[in-house]
Amino acid sequence: MSDCIFCKIAEGQIPASKVYEDELICAFNDISPQAPVHALIIPKAHIADANSITEQTAAVVGHIFAHAGEIAEKLGVAASGYRIISNCGSDAGQTVAHLHFHLLGGKDMGEKLV
Ligand code: AMP
Ligand code: ZN
Repeated sequence: MSDCIFCKIAEGQIPASKVYEDELICAFNDISPQAPVHALIIPKAHIADANSITEQTAAVVGHIFAHAGEIAEKLGVAASGYRIISNCGSDAGQTVAHLHFHLLGGKDMGEKLV
């Protein structure tokens, strides 16, 4: 997607503070962090949101979770704990229409949401 900011980050056309990258996914620090540790994990291929995941593209979501622990370890929150959230659509507050998983940690986030 030529006008997608996360596609541009994945392709290296827009700088980002990348913390993990392989052939399928990358992770980078959120530009407006909502926790001491706040990274975004994305598939490099454009998928708009959770609604758009298909049998053909679902494997990359497993790949993201296969590496989430390693990314959390790199960011120093694997032992203390972290939350992974993906917003889908307007009620969830999704602002970037490229599937992404927020990895949040570094503080006690309590028991709510969720
Ligand atoms: P969401 O509201 O779930 O769509 O999350 C989008 C996230 O992308 C927000 O937390 C933004 O702060 C973050 N974001 C937007 N642009 C950038 C960027 N260029 N680099 C890093 N994070 C970004
Ligand atoms: Zn995209």
